[in-house]
Amino acid sequence: MTSPTRPNTAPAPAPVPVLELSGIVKEYPGTPALRILHGIDLTVEAGELLAVVGPSGSGKSTLLALLGSLDRPTAGRLRFEGRDLAALTDPDLAALRAHRIGFVFQQFFLLSGLTTVENVATGLLYSGAPVSERRARAVEALRSVGLGHRLEHRPDQLSGGEKQRVAIARALIGRPALLLADEPTGALDSVSGTAVVELLRALNADGTTVVVITHDRELAASFPRRVALQDGHVESDERLPQPTGAGR
Ligand code: ADP
Ligand code: MG
Repeated sequence: MTSPTRPNTAPAPAPVPVLELSGIVKEYPGTPALRILHGIDLTVEAGELLAVVGPSGSGKSTLLALLGSLDRPTAGRLRFEGRDLAALTDPDLAALRAHRIGFVFQQFFLLSGLTTVENVATGLLYSGAPVSERRARAVEALRSVGLGHRLEHRPDQLSGGEKQRVAIARALIGRPALLLADEPTGALDSVSGTAVVELLRALNADGTTVVVITHDRELAASFPRRVALQDGHVESDERLPQPTGAGR
């Protein structure tokens, strides 16, 4: 027997997915219990940009809360960067969120009494960073979303699109591995909504894994991967064909 030619280096270990869900069930108590998610299997690799799309009531926000470890599943296994979240305590999960996950919601959730810089700096409140560093990083994050000229504005002095960019800056300031956005364009006109989606794409191009939840099929259609939810089931999981002519 001849021995096969061996490569000079061992193959790199497969990268760990950011999210790995298997058989995820979510029920709310009641008689009978109200089952919202019926066994979701989903893997999200580092660097992906995907839309979770489905009609109102299909379970999208419930799923986002689980992906972001804001809530725990009733059954099934959820791994984040290889760690089984069931094994973590609530304070462990809070720390994981603070360091690894950014959230953006339709309603922005800015604090009305704070300036944009102060709002963004709250994203580092649990990081242990001193106030001067929090402020400097907030300025940097606001510049990165094109709001370097709105540092001292308060939310009621901003347009909807600007408010959402402040919320994105707040989500980014902790340099999360995963950005979760729940209907981020739902309260915006189409021009501002397009700008927010372009910003999410740019963040993804810089290496952040981005999951956008939307009921808007047209918006979802522009994403390279679309996971469709229907009545708490994954109905389809589609990827755009690789662009031809790109790469080798
Ligand atoms: P979507 O974001 O796709 O519109 P949701 O995940 O918000 O859907 O809700 C899915 C279903 O779960 C809805 O029927 C909703 O009424 C129900 N639901 C959501 N939260 C709760 C809760 N805390 N208790 C009971 N039912 C809930
Ligand atoms: Mg929702």
